[in-house]
Amino acid sequence: MSYTTDAASSGGVFSSAARNDPHGPGLVRRVSILVFSTGLLMFFLAAVGQTVGTGWQAFGLTFGLLTVGSLGWVIDTYRGTLAGIKNHGTYQLGVQNRKWPAWFLGIFITAFYIAYYWWPQYLEGVTRLTDPLSQLLRHAPADHWFLYGWIYTVAVLLMGVRMILRYRHSRYQMIRTLSLMFFQLLVAFLLPSWLRLLNQPDFYFSYFWPLQPKYLYPGEIRNLIQHPGGLGTFMVVWGATATFLATPILTYFFGKRWYCSWVCGCGGLAETAGDPFRHLSNSSTAAWKFERWSIHTVLVIVTLGTVLLWINDAAGGGLLGSAAFHFKKAYGFVVASILAGLVGVAAYPVWGSRIWCRFFCPMAAILGIFQRYLSRFRITTNGDQCISCGNCTTYCEMGIDVRSYAQRGANIVRASCVGCGVCSAVCPRGVLNLENGDSYKDRFPGADRPWEEFQRSLRGGGG
Ligand code: SF4
Ligand code: SF4
Repeated sequence: MSYTTDAASSGGVFSSAARNDPHGPGLVRRVSILVFSTGLLMFFLAAVGQTVGTGWQAFGLTFGLLTVGSLGWVIDTYRGTLAGIKNHGTYQLGVQNRKWPAWFLGIFITAFYIAYYWWPQYLEGVTRLTDPLSQLLRHAPADHWFLYGWIYTVAVLLMGVRMILRYRHSRYQMIRTLSLMFFQLLVAFLLPSWLRLLNQPDFYFSYFWPLQPKYLYPGEIRNLIQHPGGLGTFMVVWGATATFLATPILTYFFGKRWYCSWVCGCGGLAETAGDPFRHLSNSSTAAWKFERWSIHTVLVIVTLGTVLLWINDAAGGGLLGSAAFHFKKAYGFVVASILAGLVGVAAYPVWGSRIWCRFFCPMAAILGIFQRYLSRFRITTNGDQCISCGNCTTYCEMGIDVRSYAQRGANIVRASCVGCGVCSAVCPRGVLNLENGDSYKDRFPGADRPWEEFQRSLRGGGG
């Protein structure tokens, strides 16, 4: 995963010229921008109720042009460049440097989320654009949920192509990006559509409790089990196995990266569409302190809430009364809608790409606790080779000061590290390596006494 200046090593048209910078816009990119802009214009016309065509024609004039324009743009940007670190001009683009284009983009995404969650009637025009695809996949007209899933999936796929081209010197980056694209397209988009077509319950096989808390709520479990055909029962078993067995076992062997950087849809969007903004993550001590409190608070709330719902269920519903309903509604509104969607995605251009994962995701909190105290995963550092360039810290989306570990030659064993590997991919000296050791005990002084370390961290020690 180290930097290379060997043009031949990257292969194909992407290495034909010995340029290290993305070259200026040529004819292909200019045409791509024109095609993309036309698609965007059509999209906005549809959004305000104008007719831009019917059926697949309208779909092609909007999503088709946007896709072709984006792909042409991305491919031409990296065509003829050397494989290796690409951090040229990062802070010179307004959209990547918190200038007005970044705020404009953030406000635009916020407006989309507000309409999506609370006033979907304002998305009616663009929802109709996806009717032909919805009819093809589900034999039903599109709704705003389907529109959202489609846009989300396209964003992961298109920006995934960019990610692969940008980090093509790193096999780890290419394979894990393909994994994220696979899970988003097949497991989080197509499979739920087919389940609906077969009159089966709505279920996302790549989301588990507590990221999707209702999968362990008693009412939801009862609904799934009672669904005819047996698939609902399988979903309950799948969800419970993923939460209670797969999560601790896989995290023990691989750290939280198996989920956060290879499977999860939230991580998928952050790693692809969010990649241009990863350098905006706050690496201050104050942000770290806030992170520790915020993410564990959400975890405590969802855990207590789930336990109380089960106690209430066992007591026939009389214990909590309507409070059970209000808890589920309030949690969905604050955590799922505001923190995961509105803040988590709309804030990419201002606060970086992993706001939700870093500060609020209860799944990341659980995985992080396992990773910190009971996992074989660590990032090893070869301190002698570090030239203190700071690339690793700059591009760490979780705000970890990677360089400070590298300078000391210390292993990086942080609860928040999602194992994206970008710190390693952008290190010009090959200092950083993501590794799964033979044991969790040799990663840092005290790692062989995880319970004591855990208690120490509760008293305010490092972690
Ligand atoms: S320390 Fe490295 S692998 Fe971990 S989150 Fe930061 S950039 Fe990714
Ligand atoms: S570890 Fe690599 S990227 Fe980080 S400061 Fe040292 S040389 Fe630079």
